[in-house]
Amino acid sequence: MTHSLFISDLHLAPGRPATTDSFFGFLKGPAAQAEALYILGDLFEYWIGDDDLSDPFNASVAEALGALSRRGVAVNLMQGNRDVLMGDEFAGRCGGRLLADPAILDLYGKPTLVMHGDTLCTDDVEYMKWRAKARDPAFQARFLGQPIPERKRLIVGMRQKSEEHKQGQSPAIMDVAKPTVERILRDFNYPRLIHGHTHRPARHVHRIDGHDCERWVLTDWYGSGGYLRCDASGCTVTAL
Ligand code: MN
Repeated sequence: MTHSLFISDLHLAPGRPATTDSFFGFLKGPAAQAEALYILGDLFEYWIGDDDLSDPFNASVAEALGALSRRGVAVNLMQGNRDVLMGDEFAGRCGGRLLADPAILDLYGKPTLVMHGDTLCTDDVEYMKWRAKARDPAFQARFLGQPIPERKRLIVGMRQKSEEHKQGQSPAIMDVAKPTVERILRDFNYPRLIHGHTHRPARHVHRIDGHDCERWVLTDWYGSGGYLRCDASGCTVTAL
């Protein structure tokens, strides 16, 4: 049956070769059987700009996705909080396209909203402030104006700050805020919702104004990883 696959939060990095192997195996295996692949953010541990594609690791990921798209699978990419600078050049090298966040899909007749998921975590006020800064065009232009080695150094510092921030937060604050989820589901006319980011894989059902809205949270790939498969009859999770 025609179907699409959804993944997120792979956090690919040269230092985690087992995850990269698992991802490349997934691209040649289950993903090659699908009509479309959706990568809903944080494909990379960090992304310092599309001009870093000469890096052999980055080039190998783009090539693996390019091979999938040449097999006829539609490759759809979304920026996460870690690869917010992933742009059209990278998407082009993958033979794919960059989706807006959020994006509404007609998934085999079922309206489906896809997001990275960080915009749902509105209780984390400090993070939301940082997010606004990281997406500010002037801030991005200043960052991209630095030489690549300097950007790598800056990113390491930012990651450290982020880890320290997460240590000081309660798990509840870093999860999605239920009122925000419900507002978005209402705004988009009660779709199915698929997102990642929180690393809390689950299927939730939100009952809003008499509508039951499924919310699928994708797994991260720190362990062995996994994917969500959706067709006209619904969605199912497969662990790798
Ligand atoms: Mn994320």
